[in-house]
Amino acid sequence: MKVPLLDLKEQYVSLRDALLPEILRLFDSQQFILGGPVETLEAEIASYCGVGYAVGVASGSDALLLALMAGGIGAGDEVITTPYTFFSTVSAIVRLGARAVLVDIDPRSYNIDTDGLEEKITERTRAVLPVHLFGRCADMDAISALARKYNLLIVEDAAQAIGAEYGGRRAGALGDVGCLSFFPSKNLGGFGDGGMIVTDRGELAERIRILRVHGMQPKYMHQYVGINSRLDALQAVVLSQKLKHLDEWHRRRRENAQRYHRLFREAGIARDCIMALPTDGKAAGQGSEAAGRHVYNQYVLRARDRDGLRAYLAEQGVGTEVYYPIPLHLQECFASLGYGRGDFPESERAAQETLALPIYPELTQEQQHYVVERIAAYY
Ligand SMILES: *Cc1c(COP(=O)(O)O)cnc(C)c1O
Repeated sequence: MKVPLLDLKEQYVSLRDALLPEILRLFDSQQFILGGPVETLEAEIASYCGVGYAVGVASGSDALLLALMAGGIGAGDEVITTPYTFFSTVSAIVRLGARAVLVDIDPRSYNIDTDGLEEKITERTRAVLPVHLFGRCADMDAISALARKYNLLIVEDAAQAIGAEYGGRRAGALGDVGCLSFFPSKNLGGFGDGGMIVTDRGELAERIRILRVHGMQPKYMHQYVGINSRLDALQAVVLSQKLKHLDEWHRRRRENAQRYHRLFREAGIARDCIMALPTDGKAAGQGSEAAGRHVYNQYVLRARDRDGLRAYLAEQGVGTEVYYPIPLHLQECFASLGYGRGDFPESERAAQETLALPIYPELTQEQQHYVVERIAAYY
């Protein structure tokens, strides 16, 4: 049996008939940059996330960059985030000449450990950038309390967490600005790159709208040095169609996660000495009752002898991935941050131990049984 980490074809086939006429209509219009379809999607995503404004941009990475630019982050400023995330969380900060101040993760949620956060705040700290990693919201109660106390901007990296909930609100609506990605492997993925910024703050949304078109307003009058970062109309057409199914896909991802939990327990391998399953609710040390809805962009567990297991599963036809094999403080290009091995032990341990299994909505029960059976056979 073959179980790929992610199979986008089945989803595409189910949407093909609805999508193709919309795509043809767009091609016939020959209006590719921003325009009606992007405005429609912006309104739909704002409403889905429960915020007043949404601005379509070229990628999730650009969303982070533009959100920080709009927040006025630049040289001499410090922004706090974690080293256990995708590259662009930290590169967006560094690109603007600001300093990325890193805090280790909570080992159960893989999100920023809020116990270590306050001591990293200095008079240069301007923003905190929590990542809702794998589709599970960070401990936003603690982060919001600190942001209020020290007057910090909260920029959420919600690239993996569209639709995730915390305390009755959705990812992207929990801080000042939320950054979404429509990279094809995200829960809402386009037919190429795409991203969006969501916010309740009208003045930030307005600045981002100007920044994404080279800081230009009106035409050929440049107020800021912006960048060229717009969502394609083609992506917006695809994403509006897909958005109709997003909650159903979330439901299936969550159901698959629960099934893995049950199957691993039944197989007797959900034991700490062999593997640690992802946590759905609040993690150790998190004060809130409201960790909320995990949307499982990735189903990530910790496994004993992770690399051996991974190689074995590859032989058995099961696709897996390591998110992330090298924490960002150990990346060559961030050496100037001045961190070294041993500075963030939980991030370094996670990089050695974690493994992502297939969790996409169309995964079948038979495939899941096979994955668990092969893992049990390995141990
Ligand atoms: C995917 C991702 C991004 C970047 O999104 P792109 O659309 O690929 O640029 C940023 N942060 C996290 C946590 C991501 O997973």
